[in-house]
Parts: sequence; C-alpha cells; structure tokens
Amino acid sequence: MAVIAPSLQTEIQFVKGVGPKMAPLYGKLGITTAQDLLFHFPRRYEDRRHLPPIREARAGTHATVRGRIVHVESRPSRGRAAPVKAILNDGSGQMVLVWFNQPWIAKKLREVTGEVIAYGLVKDGSHALEMHSPEFEVIDPDDEAEGFTRIFPVYGLTEGLMQRSVRRAAANAVENYVDLLSEPLPLNVRKENKLPGLAWAVRRMHVPENLDDVGHARRRIAFDEFLAIQLLVQMRRAATQQEPGIKFDLPKDLKDEIKQIMPFELTGAQQRVVKEIWSDMQKTAPMNRLVQGDVGSGKTAVAACAMLAAVRSGYQAALMAPTEILAEQHAMNLSRLFEPLGLQVQLLLGKQKAKEKQKAIEQIESGQAQIVVGTHAVIQEDVNFAKLGLAIIDEQHRFGVLQRLALRQKSDVIPDVLVMTATPIPRTLSMTVYGDLDVSVIDEMPPGRRPIKTHWKAASAREAVYETVGKLLQEGRQAYFVCPMITESEKLQTQAAVDLHYRLSEGAFRDYRVGLLHGQMKPAEKEVVMESFRSHELDVLVSTVVIEVGVDVPNATVMVIEDANRFGLSQLHQIRGRVGRGDQQSFCILIADATTDEARDRMEVMVATQDGFRIAEEDLRLRGPGDMLGTRQSGNLDLRVADLIRDLRILEDAKQAAFKIVASDPDLSSAENIRLRSLLKGKHEGDAWLPVT
Ligand code: ADP
Ligand code: MG
Repeated sequence: MAVIAPSLQTEIQFVKGVGPKMAPLYGKLGITTAQDLLFHFPRRYEDRRHLPPIREARAGTHATVRGRIVHVESRPSRGRAAPVKAILNDGSGQMVLVWFNQPWIAKKLREVTGEVIAYGLVKDGSHALEMHSPEFEVIDPDDEAEGFTRIFPVYGLTEGLMQRSVRRAAANAVENYVDLLSEPLPLNVRKENKLPGLAWAVRRMHVPENLDDVGHARRRIAFDEFLAIQLLVQMRRAATQQEPGIKFDLPKDLKDEIKQIMPFELTGAQQRVVKEIWSDMQKTAPMNRLVQGDVGSGKTAVAACAMLAAVRSGYQAALMAPTEILAEQHAMNLSRLFEPLGLQVQLLLGKQKAKEKQKAIEQIESGQAQIVVGTHAVIQEDVNFAKLGLAIIDEQHRFGVLQRLALRQKSDVIPDVLVMTATPIPRTLSMTVYGDLDVSVIDEMPPGRRPIKTHWKAASAREAVYETVGKLLQEGRQAYFVCPMITESEKLQTQAAVDLHYRLSEGAFRDYRVGLLHGQMKPAEKEVVMESFRSHELDVLVSTVVIEVGVDVPNATVMVIEDANRFGLSQLHQIRGRVGRGDQQSFCILIADATTDEARDRMEVMVATQDGFRIAEEDLRLRGPGDMLGTRQSGNLDLRVADLIRDLRILEDAKQAAFKIVASDPDLSSAENIRLRSLLKGKHEGDAWLPVT
C-alpha cells in the first residue's frame, strides 16, 4: 500500500474528520486544503469551565449561557412568520432565546434532550432577559465526559456544518499538518517583537490550553497579517521619491520647560506618545501621525508638547478644532499654558468681526503669533502662515477627510501633521493600514478618574431624573442637558434647545442658574456662557450637540441626554465624555423611549461599557456591513485575525519591523528575509488594494 506523505496541500476531503460528503461545505468557506483549514481561525473562544449563571447575565453585554430548554413556542403574530421562542433554564434563572424567520429551529429545539449552550447579546425583554438569534450548540456528550476542562474555539460556519465537526477537523489538521508550516519570520524580528513561532501560534489558535496562549497566538497571526501589508507599502514607498519635510531641531531643555508649565505630571502613556512625536519631528520625512486616545485621556496636553517643540525650533504651530466652541476652549487653555513663556496664542474664527479677523491674520502672516488655534475651515482657507511647521487636527472624525494638500499650500515646506481622535472613522483606519498614518495610542487615563455611572430611563421617568439631578446640584455639582439633533436645520435645533431651556429654568430647576448654548449664538456670546459655566456661575447648561467634543469642565458631573435614541453610539460616547473629568463620581442619564431594536442595543451598550474600543466596535457592528470598511472585512485587505480597532499597537509594531526590513533589504532577497515573501503571496495582483496617491 502506498503511503502518501502528508502535505499542507492535501485536499480537504482527506483531512481526518471531514470526508467527501462534508468537503463541499468547507469549500463554501473557502477551505479546500489542509492548510486552508489551519488558517480558518476561530471567531472567538469560550471558557466553559467558568460560564456565569443566567442570574448574573446583564442586558447590553454578550454572554454565553448553558442550560436546558424547558419550553419551545412559535406563534404567528400580525401575519408575519412566527418568531421561535425557547426558554433556557440553568437552575439559577431563565432566559428567553428568540429566533426570527427561522421556523425550523423550533423542531430542532424540541428534539434536544441534553443541555445546550447559547451565545449572543443579552437584552431586557418584557418578562425576562432575552437573547435574539443567538449562536447555539447542543452539548457534545464526549466533551461533557472531559468535564469541560478546556477552552472551546468557536468557528464561523455555513449552513449544514456543525460547530463540533469543524472543531474536531481543525484539531485533527493541527495534529497532522501544523508542523509542516515553515516559519516566515526571521529570528531577530520574532525576538524583537516577542513573537512565538508560527506553528505554535496556529496550534494554539485551534487547541488553546489557556486564554493567555490565545492572546500570544493571536498577536503573532495578526502581526503577520499586518506585516505583509506593511512590507508591500514600504517597498513601494522605498521605490518612490519622498518629499522632504522639516527636520526640527529640538532644544535640550524642552522636557524641563514642559515640566515647568504643565499643571500635572504626564501619564506614562502621554510621555510615550510625546516621545514618539518628538522623534518623528526630528526626522527629515514629514510626520503623519494619528494619536488615538479615548475621551478624557489627555490628548490636549500631548498636542501642547508637540506645539512647544515646533515653536522652540523656530516654527509656527496650528491647532484645528471641529467647532468654534472647542477652538475657543483650546485657545484659552493654551494661552494659560504658554503665555508665561512669552508665546503668543492667536485665535482665528469664521465669525470674528472683519477688523478683528484681519488683525489676527496679520499676526499669523507676520509670524508674530507662534501658535494659532481655529476651526478647520478658517485655517485652511484664509491664512498664509509665515512659517508653519506643525498642524494638529483635533477630533477629526467630525471633519471627515483630512486635506493635507490644502495645508501644503500654506508654506513652502511640508508641515508635520498630527491627527488626534477618540474613535477613528473607517477612513482613518484604512489610512493607518496603508501606511499613510503612523499611530500612537494613549491607553491610560489620568489618575483619579472614576467610572461614570450610566443609566437609561424612559421618558416617563423624566421628572424623577430631574429630581435626582437637583440633589446633585444641591451638593455643588453642575449638570449638562443635551438635546438632540432632530433635523439638519440649525434653526429647529436651536428651537429645541430654547424650549428645553425654558422648560427647565421655569420648571424643575427654577431655583438654579440655567444657561443656554447653541450653534446660532455669536462666538462672543458662546464664550460668555461657557466661561460662566466653567466658573460655576451657572449650575445647569442646556445645549445642543455643540458641546459634543472636547469641552472640559471637571466640576460638571451630570450629563443628561434627552431623546438619547436619536444619537449614534460614538456620538453618545463623546457626549458622555464631557463628565467624569474630575475626582467626583459622575453620572450620565440617557432619556429615551427606544422604539427600534437597534436603538435599544445602543442604549444597552452605553449602560454596559465605557470602553471606547468596545463602543467603536459595537458601533461598526450595529451600523451594519455597509459601514464595515474599517474592521476586519476591509475590502481586500484580507485580515482574518487582525482587527483594526483593537490591534493598532500590533499594527504599529509590524510597521516598525517592515520599515527596518525594507531599509536594509528592499527586495527581500537576503537569506533570512527570503521566506517573508511567502507572506506576500497573492497580495501583489495589480496593487488593487493599494491606495491611490
Ligand atoms: P481628551 O483626550 O478627551 O482631549 P483632554 O485633553 O481634554 O482629553 O483632557 C481631559 C482632562 O484631563 C483635562 O481636564 C486635562 O487637564 C486632564 N489631564 C490630562 N492629562 C492629565 C494628567 N497627566 N494628569 C492629570 N490630569 C490630566
Ligand atoms: Mg480633546
């Protein structure tokens, strides 16, 4: 009998546990060989040793629950196909599993005798917690016999393919083929980046012993995915001429000067990011860097450090904000910071009076003003800087597309560019991948922050909410009330704010000082209102979404968002970020009668988490595939494991590695690098996925 040597190219039907009948189903998932199966990674993992009881499940979080189906029903309602509802009981409590438009599930559920496992987003139902269209698996008696002592991988499936058969086939493929994988990364790259070997990583993705293993394995696989793209980008860059930028000459005592003017010590993360920025600035190549830091992480201080570096090297620095209010606030804070050093901070706004504006422009064009703060549009259109060296764009998700070209025309040299954001938009994410933007992450909050307590209340509970807010005002706190953007019309929006202001100042808060802020006010009026709120001459500030970004008043610890269901998740997160900035406990109250499932999801996510990364993910998920450009499915980027939101640090490591490799060996021809080419296979064709420049 001939013995066939095992090969990674073995047809999938011959992989143990698959067979000719199932092979076409694997084909549907793009798996035709043993190697394909090895690279069909689990979507997630379950630690079934520690499944929490149903009683502990909370609406707005994803959960895995295990129990018995005690009741199945499927009743048609209003002419539509009947949803299937099943009650899952685990002894601690019950949960209702609901499926829409899948009537066959009822039959399947009625046949189940043992326990099942369900996974999905938990929601508040009318009687009990619910899970809609959960992933669902009948427990395998063999696994049961093993006593659930392991971490279970959960795979993406196609109809007809069972979770447990894929799990077994993948484990078999690991057993028989994984050691045939050759290692594409040079040893020094692995060492420098503390990466495990590829075969080990693939094995642990499918057969994990613990969640730490999965973490290391995932990081390795994601690194390879990013490295492949980065190598191509850098190789192409190396082949084209780079336009020279400014090589800033930073004085030695810059650090001391920063220490001297900052009212607080920078966090470790802020220090790291400042170092990365300063190092970019000292290079000839123009800086294009994204600073990602959650709301409240202290991006402004980082911007100030970059600006001072530019000024101390003899250049001007500009900070562009998305709204006039924010520009005013930045100008005020930066003046406070920099005026002791004798620097001039110039504010430039579209709504300034002609004379005032002309004077501002003169200061900027003569170079008298070293630091310029304004709105995006104004700085781009109206001004010629004397010597612009650094442009910082704050909260760009409001701007949409970054227009670097316009900035270039502001000076003979190409200025360095810094973009600061809390939740990057898909367009930004793809720019980070394409190599147009380097990334720094501020992944640490300033000390002493307390989590914000978020509550979701129905409109009928409004009066009770106002009463609670009143108590907090009594204790000396301040509150924001944000009313929603109902229409595109700024006039109607203003009307809504005016109405709410009237209602509150004549009603529930008539004993307090209630201010009003909206987009149709003149800049000077806005500034007066903001300043009185800042100095606690107002207790309550009623506002349209103009305060969405950046506003910073630490004593304001209450945020009430009216008709919160009208806002998107990222927007809600931004708005909520206006509180929780001091050392007092802060609260966010969402007033909403959520009428759609999606709106409920948004409210529940807000209540459940304050993690900007999770919110960005849920946001992309809820907005659906049309908007998914930013995540894993990014066009033809072919990222299977790497996630553009979660894995920006890994991306940055891969970028550095690619940079070093290409600098010393631009066509990957040395003995140690040649196997890297295997990573690039299939990615060349027509450069279709590369950005048009
Ligand atoms: P964001 O990243 O949302 O723009 P800000 O720059 O507005 O955040 O900073 C939020 C608040 O945290 C501000 O009040 C700021 O003064 C404060 N802050 C920033 N960095 C630190 C730090 N290292 N220590 C203490 N407070 C800080
Ligand atoms: Mg900010």
